[in-house]
Amino acid sequence: MALRTIRIEGDPILNKTSKEVTKMTLRTEALIDDMLDTMYEAMGVGLAAPQVGILKRIVVVDVGDGPIILINPVILEASGEQSGDEGCLSVPGKAGLVTRPEYVKVKALDENMKEVVYEGEGLLARAFCHEIDHLDGHLYTELVEGELHDVNYDEEDDEE
Ligand code: ZN
Repeated sequence: MALRTIRIEGDPILNKTSKEVTKMTLRTEALIDDMLDTMYEAMGVGLAAPQVGILKRIVVVDVGDGPIILINPVILEASGEQSGDEGCLSVPGKAGLVTRPEYVKVKALDENMKEVVYEGEGLLARAFCHEIDHLDGHLYTELVEGELHDVNYDEEDDEE
């Protein structure tokens, strides 16, 4: 298990466009494993490679149904609308209201470079959109309606 340092808003790498992954390497496999470890350690539901300083089009998501790995993800379809609070591991302690599609269909490659298609609703759709935005250098703070607000973490919840 290896944790990577999560880059925080203001770090210019978060505003850069990530490059497509053309082949799986040991290095990229290790990156994906580390991204999962880092996401779980930080109690996040998603993490994109640029958030750990690597400009590759890789995201990991887990909204509670197990890990999803997306390489070179593309949104094929989006429909509906949901408004809700959104946060980001790169913007710690904050959240803000963001409107996203209620449903998205995403095409990507998995860790074996095989094509996969996922359909997501609700939180999963939100996570797909949020993480894919990271690959194009966008943070949810660009989309927030109104002001960001503080999120109070209950410290007792962190003790397991
Ligand atoms: Zn984020």
